[in-house]
Amino acid sequence: MELIQASFKQVSDAVKTKKISAVEVTKFFMSRAEKLNPQLNAYIAFNTKAMEEAEAVDKKIQQGEAVGPLAGVSFGIKDLLCTRDLRTTAGSKILSNFVPPYDATVVARLKNAGAVVIGKLNLDEFAMGSSNETSFYGNCKNPWNPEYVPGGSSGGSAAAQSARIAMGTIGTDTGGSIRQPSNFCGIVGIKPTYGRVSRYGIVAYASSLDQAGPMVSSVEDAALSLEVICGHDPKDSTTSQQKVPEFSKNLSQNVKGMKIGLLKEYQSGGIHADTAATYQRAVDELKKLGAEVIEVSVPLTEFAVPMYYLIAASEASSNLARYDGVKYGYRSDFKDLSSLSLEDFYSQTRGEGFGKEVKRRIMLGTYCLSSGYYDAYYNKACQVRRLLREQYLDVFKKCDVLLSPVTTTPAFKIGEKSSDPLKMYLNDIFTTSTNLAGLPGMSVPFGFSKEGLPIGVQLTAAHFNEQAALNAAYALESVSGVKERRPNVF
Ligand code: GLN
Repeated sequence: MELIQASFKQVSDAVKTKKISAVEVTKFFMSRAEKLNPQLNAYIAFNTKAMEEAEAVDKKIQQGEAVGPLAGVSFGIKDLLCTRDLRTTAGSKILSNFVPPYDATVVARLKNAGAVVIGKLNLDEFAMGSSNETSFYGNCKNPWNPEYVPGGSSGGSAAAQSARIAMGTIGTDTGGSIRQPSNFCGIVGIKPTYGRVSRYGIVAYASSLDQAGPMVSSVEDAALSLEVICGHDPKDSTTSQQKVPEFSKNLSQNVKGMKIGLLKEYQSGGIHADTAATYQRAVDELKKLGAEVIEVSVPLTEFAVPMYYLIAASEASSNLARYDGVKYGYRSDFKDLSSLSLEDFYSQTRGEGFGKEVKRRIMLGTYCLSSGYYDAYYNKACQVRRLLREQYLDVFKKCDVLLSPVTTTPAFKIGEKSSDPLKMYLNDIFTTSTNLAGLPGMSVPFGFSKEGLPIGVQLTAAHFNEQAALNAAYALESVSGVKERRPNVF
């Protein structure tokens, strides 16, 4: 078995039957990660206790105890999820010294299933960004071409996965942060239905939109790891009580008779020729496989980007109020606290601790929530969001999944958009409406640009119907012809 290409199931079966130990798997991925990370800057930190944790998995197996479906699988975790005794920075200076005393539920569930966390992955500061350039820890690079961004905000997860310096990774998606970097780095990423996965222990960006999900190398691995992390959590009251299907057992490449909707609003121009060609090929392949393709319309997607940036910034301004340097996190190096006003204490600490993009969003959000503007901005956005959701509910009466591009272009160059926030925000044009409506969505690799950069397609399904998106993605993956291509770092 070639570890670098093996599926989660192959590795965990081999670990369980003692053909290989969890320690050997962990050593392999950690040493590969330590060797390649200086080129990519995908990891912010490695877990120094990973070997001990792997030993514990092996010991359980030796003693005949039950281990889960991810036994011995090496995971990298976006540094937005709390990991017990392992520093969690959210990509920010303000949390540069924060060591959580507990694991996020997602992390606890992975560990419970036998996975070994090998390190924490780079991201845009507080998950705000589309390129990883807002990270306080330096930008991460795209393994297919280091002059390009890996996408964001889960750029470290996408880069680590595509360079196989982790067997699997976890990202979060508030407006596209799992799907867009997966698309830019040629991996599979799924954002579950809002409420499927617990947000407990995930540093909050915009609480009504945030969801965590797997960013991995195949649809099969996505299905298996998704079922591990999904499910009701008493620690997060927004998690659903719905039963979690066995996504991996129900995987099927048979899309005969499946109804695939193409959004009219996403067919207008402005799409890079290679992205458009990849998308068209996906449409044609699904037809060949027996799916029925129809055109549908969700007119309010036109307002998804402004709606998203109003709501996300508003929630962020409130969520980020807690970082004040009092109880934990970074505090300015004050010489004399006695002569300092509380306001100066806060503003100096926050002024130094947050980066430019985060400050921009705090100001924007605070403005939208202020009493004179609340109704005109925040409230209005919430009302339109509700209508958008209803339009989607209607569309899913007519089709099983929606197919679209993930972004308008393949990965862009580092520095290309970083001085123009609006240009950067427009990157989220095809991804944000999924979060606003609470729907599950995923990105699956399907082609390459002429420059050799990966291009994916996006599948969106009705609430709690991740299976439909996974199955359509599974069918597409089988005919994509791109699965064997790997970035140069191999
Ligand atoms: N690019 C979007 C933003 O900057 C999405 C980020 C995300 O999904 N976390 O807000």
